[in-house]
Amino acid sequence: MKCPYCNFHDSKVIDTRPTDNNESIRRRRSCLSCGKRFTTYERVEGQTLVVIKKDDTREAFQRSKVLNSLIRAAEKRPVKLETLENAVDEIEKEINHLNQKEVTSAYIGELVMDRLKGIDKVAYIRFASVYREFEDVQSFADEVENLKD
Ligand SMILES: [Zn+2]
Repeated sequence: MKCPYCNFHDSKVIDTRPTDNNESIRRRRSCLSCGKRFTTYERVEGQTLVVIKKDDTREAFQRSKVLNSLIRAAEKRPVKLETLENAVDEIEKEINHLNQKEVTSAYIGELVMDRLKGIDKVAYIRFASVYREFEDVQSFADEVENLKD
């Protein structure tokens, strides 16, 4: 497993545990070259999930894509990476519970927003504004207003 920071080919496993749904194994690794830590997931093959995008094209579900969108939304916010990783675990679990081979990106977006709302309001607004493509200032303002309670 290559290190995502320096591309070194070898790492040491420092923690191994199943994800909450027991459908994959999560490993914390430490790069033997730069010492940075990263997480890898190992899963049983044959559980490919396909995402139907807005334009009706399909692509394989990628956990990293969901995580990256969360990281982007929470940029410069006091949110731990682990919190976001756990949120993605929960989102994945929820999708797996559907027992469907295909799921829309819109559905995933809603799940992300549900989680972000409870994590960080600014991150939530950032994600929602990109995701929902607020058509006008008013609908954006309404969303902000809704968050105040
Ligand atoms: Zn490294």
